[in-house]
Amino acid sequence: MAASKSFLDSLKKPEPTSFKMTDFRRELHLRHKRDEHAKKERMKALQESKLISKYAITIDTSRARSNCDVLRMCVKELGFKEYPFGRKDNCCDVHWHACHFEDNPEVYGGKVNKFPGMGEICSKMTLFRCLDIMRDLFPTDYDFYPRTWYLPAQFHEFSCEIRKMHERRVKPKPTFIVKPDTGAQGDGIYLLREPNEYSSFNGKCHVAQEYMSNVYLIDKFKFDFRVYVLLKSLEPLEFYICQEGLARFSTLPYENPTNKNIHESFMHLTNYSLNKRSSTFNRSDRDDEGSKRTLTSVLRRIAMNGHDSNKVWKSIERIVCKTIVAIVPEMKVEYQAAVPPGKTGPSCFQVLGFDILLLHNLKPILLEINASPSLSLDSEQEVSPGVFEYVISPKDEEVKYPLIRDTLLHVVPIDKLKYFRKRKKRRLLKKLKASSSQKMKRPEPLVKQRTSIVIIKADESDEEKREVNVTQQMSEMHMDIDSSASHGESTARDANSDDERESNLKSDTELDEEVDNYFETKLRESCLKQLYPAIYDEECERYRILERVAGLFIYFLGIRGSLRIGPTGFRTFARKCRLNRKGMTNASVDIMYIDLQRRWDHMNPERTSGSGIKSIGKKGNGGSIVSNTGLCYQGFLDACIEIARRKFYAPSKIEMLENLVDHCELSLNLKDNDLANNLPRLHFRRLGLQYRQGSLYAMPRRIMEQMTEETTIEDLLKAHEKKLRQPSKEDIESFLRRSRRTIYQPSSTAAVLSAHRSPDSE
Ligand code: ADP
Repeated sequence: MAASKSFLDSLKKPEPTSFKMTDFRRELHLRHKRDEHAKKERMKALQESKLISKYAITIDTSRARSNCDVLRMCVKELGFKEYPFGRKDNCCDVHWHACHFEDNPEVYGGKVNKFPGMGEICSKMTLFRCLDIMRDLFPTDYDFYPRTWYLPAQFHEFSCEIRKMHERRVKPKPTFIVKPDTGAQGDGIYLLREPNEYSSFNGKCHVAQEYMSNVYLIDKFKFDFRVYVLLKSLEPLEFYICQEGLARFSTLPYENPTNKNIHESFMHLTNYSLNKRSSTFNRSDRDDEGSKRTLTSVLRRIAMNGHDSNKVWKSIERIVCKTIVAIVPEMKVEYQAAVPPGKTGPSCFQVLGFDILLLHNLKPILLEINASPSLSLDSEQEVSPGVFEYVISPKDEEVKYPLIRDTLLHVVPIDKLKYFRKRKKRRLLKKLKASSSQKMKRPEPLVKQRTSIVIIKADESDEEKREVNVTQQMSEMHMDIDSSASHGESTARDANSDDERESNLKSDTELDEEVDNYFETKLRESCLKQLYPAIYDEECERYRILERVAGLFIYFLGIRGSLRIGPTGFRTFARKCRLNRKGMTNASVDIMYIDLQRRWDHMNPERTSGSGIKSIGKKGNGGSIVSNTGLCYQGFLDACIEIARRKFYAPSKIEMLENLVDHCELSLNLKDNDLANNLPRLHFRRLGLQYRQGSLYAMPRRIMEQMTEETTIEDLLKAHEKKLRQPSKEDIESFLRRSRRTIYQPSSTAAVLSAHRSPDSE
C-alpha cells in the first residue's frame, strides 16, 4: 500500500532534477558559477599578495623567452622573486621582454628592459642616418663607421660613386656589402662590386656600405667584437659598458675580396649564428681559442702582439658614447609617443649589443647595434657524427651571467635593494652567530654544517631557500677568510683545547665587518662601468645639440603620442619661433614642409603609408591610433638645418644650428613658461646669464602687453634690463605722463612710487 502511494506521489510531483531548467534558473546557475569563480580568483590573488613582502624585489619573466635561462640564474642568485607566468596585476619591479617594449602593453609601472621603438632605431637605416647627421655636423669625430647608402632611394648616388671609383682606378678594386634594413644574423647579406649586382627583393630597403677589407686578423681569421652596453636611463642620460664581451671569428682564413671569393660567407661574415654551421667551427672551451672567444682574451692577444690594447678599448668606449648620443633624440621622440607626459607608464632600460670590427691599424669600426642581443647560454655541440646536443657554453656564461646580474642590481628600486641588503645582513649575522656558537658547543666540520642547513630549509619557501644559499656562500666566505677553512684543518682543530677554539670565534663587530665586506666586494666586482655621465660627460656635451631640436619637435607635435608633425604644427613652429622675423614667409614655410615630407616619405617607403591621410594602429602604443602622415623627426631636423643655413649663417653647420635653436628656445621661453621650465639650464648657459627662476620668465605684464609681432628679442631684453635699473627722474616723469597723473613731487621719488602703487587710496 505504502509502495503504491509513493509511486502515485512520484507521478504527481516529479523529481526536482527532472525539472526542465527555465531560462531564469539557468541564468541563476551561471551567475552563481561566475561568482564562485570570481571568489576563487580573489582568494588566489589575496594569497599571492599575502605571500610576498612589500619589500620583495619582483621580476616578471613571462615574456623573457630565450633570455629566461640566464635571467632565472641571476634572479635566483640575487634572491629576488621571479614570476614565470607574470602577475595578475602586472605589478613587478622589472618586466623582462625578449624582443620589444610592446611585448606586454598592459605594463603601467616598474621597469621594462626595452625602450619603445628601439628595434626600429637600431635598424640599419635609422641608425646610420642618425650617425650621418652627426657626421655632417662633426665630420672628424664621427668617422668610425663605413660610408653608407640607403637603397633603393640612393641607388643613383651609389652607382655614380662606384663608377667614379672605377674611373679613378682605385686599388684594390672597391667592394661593397649590402644588408637588409631589418635583417639580423647575417641573413640576406652579400658583397658586390658592380651596381647592377644589386637586387631589391620585394621592394625591401637595404643599406650598402663600403666593405672594410683591411681588417686585423688573429690566426689568419677575421673577427668582430660584441660589446654589451647598459642604457640605464634616458632622462637623465646614463649608460654603462660591460667590461667583458665576446669576439666572434669567421671559420675560413681571410683573404682580400676577389671576384672568386666574394661569395664565401664563412670568410667575410663573422656572425656566430652563421659560422656555427661551418664544418670548421672550433668549439674549444679555452678562453683564447676557438671561433668564439672572450673579448678580454683577444685584447690580451693584441697586447701580446705589441699593440696598445688599452687605447683600443678607450676608442671603443668613445664609439659607444658618440653612438648613443646620436640615437638619443630619436629615442626621446619615440618615448613620448609611447608614454606621453602625464600618462602612467613604466620607465625603461636596455642592454644593447654593439658589433665592432677592428681595422688593420686597430681602429675600431661600428657595424651595427643589436637592440636584442642574444642572451642564451647554450650552444649546439656535435656529440657524435650528425647528432647535436645543446650544452651550456662556458664562454657565454662567463660573459652574459655577470652582465644580467649587474644589470638587475642597477635597475631594481634602490630603496627595496637597501632594505633587502639590510635584512639579509641581519639574517646572515644571526645565522653566522648561531653557527659559531654551535661550533663552540659541538665542533663539527663546517662542510657538514652547510649541508645540514640545506636539508633543514629544504621545505621552506623559495625566499628562505635563497637566503640559505647566500648563507652558504657566506659560510664559504667565512671559511675562506678564516684561515681554518678547510675540512682537514677544522677537524684537526677539533682536537685542540677549548681555549684555542674560543679564540677562533669572531666578535660581533668582526662578523659585521665581514658581511659588509661581502656586499662591498659584490658591488666592486660589477662588470659594468659607467661611461656617461661619469667619464665622458664633458666630452659628449657638445654632441647633444640634437636633443634640443628633438625638444622643439616634441613641443610642436600637437597630437599627444604622435611621431609626426603635421602642416599646422610646422606652421605654428615657424610662427611661435618668430622665423617670420628672419624673413621666412608663410608660403616658404609651407613649401619647405611639403618638399621635406615628400623627400622623407620617399626615403622611408617601408615605413610610410600610401597616399592620403591614413591612420594606423601602432603596436607600440598599446593599440592607440597614430597618424602615419606628416613629417618625421629626421625630416624636421632636415628642415631646421635648412632654415639655419638660410637664415642663421655662421662659419660652421653646428654654429648655424645652435644659433637657430637658441633663437627658437629664446622665443618660446619668453612667450611660454612651459618650455622655459623644461629648458632653463641650457638656455641660460648659452646666454651666459646666471639662472634665476622666474627672473627673465616673469616678464612684467606691462612689457608683455607692449609686445607686438614686430618686437624683437633684443627689444625685450633691453626692456627687461631697463626694468631692473633704478628708475630715473625722467622715467618716472614719462611714466606719470603716460598714465595721465598730475601729482608730481620731484623731491620724493618714493612718494611718487607709493602714489603709483596705490592710485585709488586717495
Ligand atoms: P647582421 O645584423 O645581419 O648581423 P652585420 O651588420 O652585423 O649584420 O654584418 C654581419 C657581418 O658582416 C659582420 O659580423 C661583419 O663580419 C661583416 N660586415 C658587415 N659590415 C661590414 C663592413 N662594412 N665591412 C666588413 N665587414 C662587414
